[in-house]
Order: sequence, then C-alpha cells, then structure tokens
Amino acid sequence: MKKIIFLTIITILSISCSNTETKNNEQLATVEQYSSTVYICTGAYATKYHRSSYCSGLNNCKGDVVAISINEIGNRSACQKCY
Ligand SMILES: [Zn+2]
Repeated sequence: MKKIIFLTIITILSISCSNTETKNNEQLATVEQYSSTVYICTGAYATKYHRSSYCSGLNNCKGDVVAISINEIGNRSACQKCY
C-alpha cells in the first residue's frame, strides 16, 4: 500500500514538472512574438518598418505610429536607421 502511494506521488510530481516545462515554453514563445513586433507609420508616404517606436525615422510620420507583427509589414522595407 505504501508503495502505491509513493508511486502516486512520483506521478504527480512528474506531471507538475512537465506542466512547468510547458509554461516555460509558452513564455519563450511570447517573448519571441514580442521581439518580432515592429513599428510602422500609418502616414501615406511611410514605406519602412522600425525596430523601435522611438526611431528618428518615425519623427516625420504624418500619421500614427502603430505596433504590428513583423508578419503584417506587407511591402514595407526595414528602416536603415534602426535595423
Ligand atoms: Zn527606424
């Protein structure tokens, strides 16, 4: 009987360990997603995307500076100043 309880504890421990691992992986994925965020100007003449929303290339922006995923940049090219 004692052995069964012991095995149960081991099983619970290993399950909670693998849960923690999954959580860590999710956190890593979130960080990765965060780092692939770029900033664009919504102005009509903006053709670049930026690594930082404080980039001097965004100073002349006639529209709004918005954060988007790098997957959504469309035809925009990387800014020479911050990339
Ligand atoms: Zn830039």
